[in-house]
Parts: sequence; C-alpha cells; structure tokens
Amino acid sequence: MGEPSTWRFNKAVHSAYVHGLSIPEDEVLVEYVYVAEDGYSIHSKCRKLKHVPSEPSDVPIWSYAANFPVEDRFLQPVVIYKDPFRKGNHKLVLCEVYANDWTHAPRNFRKNCKETMSTPEATSAAPWFGLEQEYSIIDAANRPLGWPSCFMPQPNTPIHHDAVGMHKAFGRDLYEAHLFACLYAGVNISGGNAEACPGQWEFQVGPTEGVRAADDLWMARYILHRLSEEFGVAVSFHPKIIPGGAGACGGHVNFSTLAMRQDGGIKHIKAAMPLLAKTHQQFLPLCDAHGGADNVARLMGFFCTASLEFRWGVEDRDATIRIPRQVAVDKKGFLEDRRPAANFDPYLVTDALVQVVVLGHET
Ligand code: ADP
Ligand code: MN
Ligand code: MN
Ligand code: MN
Ligand code: MN
Repeated sequence: MGEPSTWRFNKAVHSAYVHGLSIPEDEVLVEYVYVAEDGYSIHSKCRKLKHVPSEPSDVPIWSYAANFPVEDRFLQPVVIYKDPFRKGNHKLVLCEVYANDWTHAPRNFRKNCKETMSTPEATSAAPWFGLEQEYSIIDAANRPLGWPSCFMPQPNTPIHHDAVGMHKAFGRDLYEAHLFACLYAGVNISGGNAEACPGQWEFQVGPTEGVRAADDLWMARYILHRLSEEFGVAVSFHPKIIPGGAGACGGHVNFSTLAMRQDGGIKHIKAAMPLLAKTHQQFLPLCDAHGGADNVARLMGFFCTASLEFRWGVEDRDATIRIPRQVAVDKKGFLEDRRPAANFDPYLVTDALVQVVVLGHET
C-alpha cells in the first residue's frame, strides 16, 4: 500500500447542514441496511419518505443492484431502528434480501432463522442469545491501532484485556461512541470491554429472544462501520488479522432455553452437550464468513480459543462449549458456544443452535 490519504472533511461544516437546518418533521430519510451478496459486508442506501414509519410494513419494498448490469435484489424491511447519525425522525431499516423473483436469495439466512425460531417447539423453548462481538480497529495504512506499540504485546495476556491507559487501550473513542449510538438506535447492547490485543475491542448484545438477537448484531456492526468512517479508521471482524498467537477475534454465542434458565436447569445445559458434540463437524462451517476456512487459524485450542476437537468444560476458555462458573454454582443459566469467529453470520449460528438443541436435528 502507498501512503495513506490524510484528507478529512470538516465535521463542523457537515453538522451545520445535517443538524443545523430545520426541515419538516414528515420528511424522513430512511437508510435501508442489508447484508451484501458476499454474506459478510453490510451495505445501505437512502430513500426519503413523506411519513414517519412506525412498522416495517410502513416502509416500502425497494431493491438494489447485486450484480451489474442486470441482477436486482429486493429489499424487504424487517426492523426499524432510530438513526443515530441523522437523528430526528430519521431511521435505519434492516432489510431481508430476496432474488428478483422473490425466491430465497442465496445469502439471506434470516428467513430460515426466523422460520426455525417460529416453530412451536422453539417458541415454547424461548431461546435467548447473548452475542459477543470482538473487532479490530485498523488505521489508514491497514495496521491495527497500537501495533507496533511501545512494547510487543504477548499473545492473549491480560495486559490489554479490560485495560485502560494510553499505552494499553487504543481506540476507545470509537468503542465508546458505538455503545451510545447503539443505545440510541434501539439495539439491545449489553456491554463491552477492551480485548486482549492492542486495537482490539468487544461489545455484547442481548440476551435477546429469537431472531432479534441476530438483527441487533447486524445493525450494531453497521453502526460500528459507519462510526469508523467518522474517526478515520476502519473496523475488521476477521478472526485472525495477525498471524501467530495474538489477536484472535471471536463471536461467542451465549445460549439458553427457558428450561435451562429455571431452577435445576443445569441438567438441560448438560443434556445439550452430546447433541452439540454429535453435530460439531457440520457446525464448524457455519462459524465464519467462508465456510470455516477463516476460523481454522483462530481455533488453536489455547490462548482462550477452542480447538477443532469438541470439548466442553466449566469455566474453561479453551473449550468448545463453556459453562460459566456462576452457572455451575447456580445450577441454571446458559452455555457459551466459543466456536463462532468474529465474522460469523448470527442468523446461521443461532438457527443451528436451536435446530440442534431444541429441535434435535443433526443440522
Ligand atoms: P465472557 O467475556 O466472560 O465470555 P461476556 O460478559 O462478554 O462474557 O458475555 C456474556 C453474555 O452472556 C452477555 O452478552 C449476556 O447478555 C449473555 N447472557 C447472560 N445470561 C444469558 C442467558 N440466560 N442466555 C443467553 N445469554 C445470556
Ligand atoms: Mn443509481
Ligand atoms: Mn466477552
Ligand atoms: Mn472477548
Ligand atoms: Mn465469551
């Protein structure tokens, strides 16, 4: 790469127009947000409405050009969020993507996920998901922030994890702005932390029931990418941007059913283990954006990553499935699936967990 470009627009001038002009309340800009054709990029396009939408059905179906020159996709609005960038009555609208004949588009995994979550068995199991999203902040020259830093980080030591201080935590403004933007938008954000490598951070959404957990994660990713533009950095969800021991980026999925959350629910948590073990090989390809290929370098079996072999354990952060210590103490709660990489599709993984654990499918 050549020298990074350093041009930057003046945000005060931008704000004079975006926030300084008064426009009629019923002139609403709707940003249609959708998972792009590659299955991991998230794109958006804007359209003005003459009313304030309160239901997804108030937002017209639209389309985008998936392949030039002639292949369109339909955008079906499914969830409305408040727009933390334009504010006011403006909206971010998450959309499902359909082929131009309304058959199921190749990378729209939301449709199947919603169908699985809507089965009578899944509805009465009331599945909750708490999704952890790790990410790396990279600068204009494609280097993770803080690398090389004043000292070389050791692989997954607690030096940077949860850390504060100029020489330990790099990029907090973006992390912090993102938490607030998600709160404003209506994403069920539940927390976050600095991660184990310089420039690496995490946020969590949930616990949230059913398909909405994955909806929120995709919208939170979109908001993070949008914000990163404003700070002049980029965000990567790749599970292994730095070869070797350091800097694996995961997307742990914390999962429970109603039975697991009730007193004595630990027996239901343990009953899920043989089902998860039996389906492990079919499950791994669902855990990243490239059929499992990205995740191979991450799943080392040490430095707080699971190996490719299935294993479960209490408090064990090198296991495939972890039962948190507090869950073992309470004898109820949830399990943590540590397989998904940071660039996983949460529709695929939450769908598969319900299929395996609740519906007894072998995926
Ligand atoms: P750690 O980093 O120790 O693995 P985090 O605190 O980052 O854990 O994430 C734990 C996640 O588990 C949180 O997102 C939380 O919302 C979620 N969670 C808590 N209780 C449940 C539950 N009953 N079912 C599903 N997820 C849950
Ligand atoms: Mn055009
Ligand atoms: Mn975490
Ligand atoms: Mn983490
Ligand atoms: Mn975790």
